[in-house]
Amino acid sequence: MKYKTALSLLLLSIAIIAGGCTTKPVQTKHHMTKGMMFQSVPKGKATILQKGPHAYSCAICGMNLPMFYKTNHTAKTPKGIKQYCSLHCLVYDNEFNKTDLYNVKVVDTNSLRFIDAMKAWYVVGSNKPATMSRISKYAFKSEKEAKAFAKKYGGKVMHFYDAYKIATQDFTKKQ
Ligand SMILES: [Zn+2]
Repeated sequence: MKYKTALSLLLLSIAIIAGGCTTKPVQTKHHMTKGMMFQSVPKGKATILQKGPHAYSCAICGMNLPMFYKTNHTAKTPKGIKQYCSLHCLVYDNEFNKTDLYNVKVVDTNSLRFIDAMKAWYVVGSNKPATMSRISKYAFKSEKEAKAFAKKYGGKVMHFYDAYKIATQDFTKKQ
């Protein structure tokens, strides 16, 4: 009898401990689980080229880079490599902060690798979500892939400087 009571007490306390654990609030990374957007990739799939404690945040607006990865750009600057959530933030740095940008790269939407932005094919104005703008801009390493994307989701195929020019309109046209 005595043994049985001790055992049930033990089991009871195990149940309390176990129960206690499950009632603890589960820590969720709110922004990552809040539905993946078209731009988003898991953190492990994002290439982060800038360094420092804020490496995973856009150098201009601070937004999470993996969350907007498919529109990420990078550039060499006098202060090292910077990574931007979007062409919008790169344009801001160049036009308003007057930061000299070299070796501009953009994420290829299909392979998720950084490619030379000067050789990339941009699809501007598709029905996929835009980052920091009302007009979406996605880049591809080949004209063929850009055309295929535009056929599916709309938008115009163009080169970097044309996409850049359209991005500058974010700052001149009233939103
Ligand atoms: Zn940004």
